[in-house]
Order: sequence, then structure tokens, then C-alpha cells
Amino acid sequence: MTLRLFNTLSGQVDELVPADGKALRMYACGPTVYDYGHIGNFRTFLQIDVLRRFLKLTGVKVRHVMNITDVDDKIIRNSAAAGIPISEYTPKYVEAFFEDLEALRVERPEQIARATEHIPQMVELIEKLEKAGAAYKTEDGSWYFRLSAFPEYGKLSKKDLSGMEDGARVDVDEYEKDSARDFALWKAVRPGETSWDAPIGRGRPGWHIECSAMAMQYLGDSFDLHAGGEDLMFPHHENEIAQSESVTHEPFARHWMHVRFLLVDGKKMSKSEGNFYTLRDLLLKGYKASAIRLALISVPYRHQLNFTFDSLTEASAAIDRLRTFHERVTKGSFAAGENEEIQLAVKKARVEYMEALANDLNTAEARAPIFDLLRVSNTAIDQGKFYAGDREAVLGVLAAFDAVFDVIEDRDAEPTRRAVEWAETSGRQADVAPELLARQGLTDDAIETLVAERTQAKKHRNFARADQIRKELAEKGIILEDSKDGVRWKRK
Ligand SMILES: [Zn+2]
Repeated sequence: MTLRLFNTLSGQVDELVPADGKALRMYACGPTVYDYGHIGNFRTFLQIDVLRRFLKLTGVKVRHVMNITDVDDKIIRNSAAAGIPISEYTPKYVEAFFEDLEALRVERPEQIARATEHIPQMVELIEKLEKAGAAYKTEDGSWYFRLSAFPEYGKLSKKDLSGMEDGARVDVDEYEKDSARDFALWKAVRPGETSWDAPIGRGRPGWHIECSAMAMQYLGDSFDLHAGGEDLMFPHHENEIAQSESVTHEPFARHWMHVRFLLVDGKKMSKSEGNFYTLRDLLLKGYKASAIRLALISVPYRHQLNFTFDSLTEASAAIDRLRTFHERVTKGSFAAGENEEIQLAVKKARVEYMEALANDLNTAEARAPIFDLLRVSNTAIDQGKFYAGDREAVLGVLAAFDAVFDVIEDRDAEPTRRAVEWAETSGRQADVAPELLARQGLTDDAIETLVAERTQAKKHRNFARADQIRKELAEKGIILEDSKDGVRWKRK
């Protein structure tokens, strides 16, 4: 099965296959580490995770490179304000970023590349650009890309840049779409700023050159796919193409994937609107990492996602159903044999699931057949018409589902615990939901002990104590379910 993915460059849905027939070489723009990641950032990383997981599920080997921008205008501004060098300012946010990715079960790319560790490669690329007539130095010692040297500029974002002023320059890393100008490749040293010695003069790289240099370092001059948030399409990705292709005269990336913005409650997320959320904000409110993952991936990447707290509650309920069903199928005892109806339902679910993902990663459509299968199977189990052979088949489909969605196994306690711990050391205690505070320190063992004590109390007809334990656990967010196989508990 081959993935058909929308390609911003060609403007159509194209098949995505490794050009070398071996591994799919892909580059995705990583974070700029000047603050904690917000859910808009994580939507992009999660959708790229869906892409790489689906490729792997179809047997495609992936070589995925992601950069860490650990030097740029914002980092320099913030570290100066904090009175520390950038090398002391960024590590906290790099660490936080990886912790957040882990909480969201985002797989690590095969290669992580930090900008500050690739300065020589960037300098070398600027030197090549100069030789190609596409870079020039200004009086202050900075280097700029000459847009007039690259007539194809604008081919990715399909912008009409005919009104562009020839030779007009912009030296900030991020700029608006109406100001397509010669952009900074290398910024001459300024008092108090981090800088590096280089044959092109002492200075520091612009943001765009880092991705070109590192992508080509690890993936070659021409590779399969470049991905990132839609906000990066212009100018960042357009600039990456210009910098790379001016030197190599080969297509930089053949396929470009852009993940759309998300809205929060129908509005653009912004601190001034009061609808700006980092992952940590949501964890501290008591939402589970798995529910955040599912809510952020369930709307296909090319659609605008309107994030609401209701969508998290819905995701949480869907995960509960999946986990309960998975446990029921795994632990139930079923007679040997197969139910033909279930076997057919399994085949249908698998085909529809894979087809939906192969169709431009339609995660919304991919979910539906899984929940259909869940309903049909639950009915069969209730009627005693579900057999051991059905179990194997159903679990196989659930495994394929979880190879991409990754929400069935309950790993939610740890990210929440870490977020609460972080809040305590970061002056954010006031933001921790009360039930999370109560739950802190309540380990699985402690819960098991209380559950066992309750069972004993009931046996000895000490119902007052049994009720007291149930209440105590409920206050700490632990739900008990009595069943004929004993007591099950789960965290709310
Ligand atoms: Zn980039």
C-alpha cells in the first residue's frame, strides 16, 4: 500500500515513495527552543508522527531528520533579558520539548540536529552561494541571499512576487508575506550577541540557512519529503529551497507537507485572547496525555482543527472505550473457533482503516471502522458468539490501529506526575487541578493495597470501611469497578 499525500510543491496529491527504493528520507523543521511548546506546535509534530508511523506500518523504512533551532532572534532576545548566554538559556527548553514529545508518544526522529553544532556546514553553504552569485556581503559584515539570483522563488507558496523590490533587504528571521526581500544568511557580530568566528567574518547564522545546511548534511542534496507547520511555508521553506537549489541545481525536497494551524474555541490561539495553551497547561488541568494526542491527531492534517475542551473530553471517552474493549478481548475466555461475521468485520475494518490513512492521512476516517468493529465485537461477546480465533483477528486490527494512534496502552500516569512535579518547581502550583494534587504520591502499589483492604473489609461485612476506601480513592481520581472477576481500578 502506497501513501498518497498532498504535495504543496506540485499542488496535488502525489504518491510518496523513497526515491532510492530503500528508505524515505525526510526532514521536518523542529522547535525554536525559547519557550515551552504550545498545542499548535504539537499538532504539527503529532501529524508528522502519524505520517512516519503509517509509513513504517506499510513497510517503508524512514530516515527522519529534525533540527533544533537553538540560536535565533528570539533566543538571543530572551537570553539577553535573562542575563545568560544562549548556551545556558536553551537546554531547559530542549529538555522540556523532548519530555513533552515523550508524553505525547511522538517517536524520536532518527537524527536530531542542533543548529549551534552545525555552524561550519552553514558557513560552507554561504561560501558556495557566494561562488554561485547568490550571496553578497554588506558593509556591516552581514551576508544576504540575492533573491534576483533565483527566479523560481515563490514556487512553493505560489506567491506572486512580481512587485518585489530588487535589492531590498530584511534581516529578521521571521517576516511578513508582503516583504519578499533579500534575506539574511549570516548576521555580523553585534555587541553582547553570541557569535562564531568564520572565514566569512565573525557572526551568527540566520534561521533559514540552518535547515538547508543540516537537511543536506544528513539527507543529501535532494531528498524525498520536507514537512512543517503551514506558518513555515513562507518565507522559511521558500528560503530553504532558494538557498539549497541555487547551489545544487537539484530539487531540494520532492515532496512538501504542511500541517494546518489550529484554532482554539474558534479563534486564533494567542496569549492576549487568553486561549493559549502549552501541553503542560492541559496536563495540569487534569487532561490525559493520551486524550490530548488523540484530539490533536483525529482531525486530518490539512483541515483546520478547532480545539476545544469538549474535544478532549470526547477523546478521553473514546480512549476509555478502546481500553475497556481491548481488555475485554484480551482477558476474556473464549471457546475455540471463529465467528464468520466477526472475521468479515475484521477484514473490512483493516482495509478501511489502511485505505483512509493511505488517502492523505485521513485520521478521522481511519478511526471510524475501528469503532464499528468494537461495536460488532461487543455485541458478539455479549451473545456468546465471539471465539478465540476472533480474538486474534480483532487484536491484530487493534495493533495496527495503535501502531499509528498509540493510545490503547495506558501510560498516562507518568506524564501527569511529571507535569505536577514540574509545576511545583516552577512556581505553577496554583495551576494544578485539585484532584491531581490529591493523586500525587498515590502509587499503583498503594492503590492495590487499598483495593485489597476494601475487598477484605467487604468479606468481613465491614461495609463502612469498604465505602470509606472507595470514597477516599474517588477523591483522588481512582475509579473502582466491581466485576465478577474481581475489582478493577483506573485513574479518572
Ligand atoms: Zn526549517
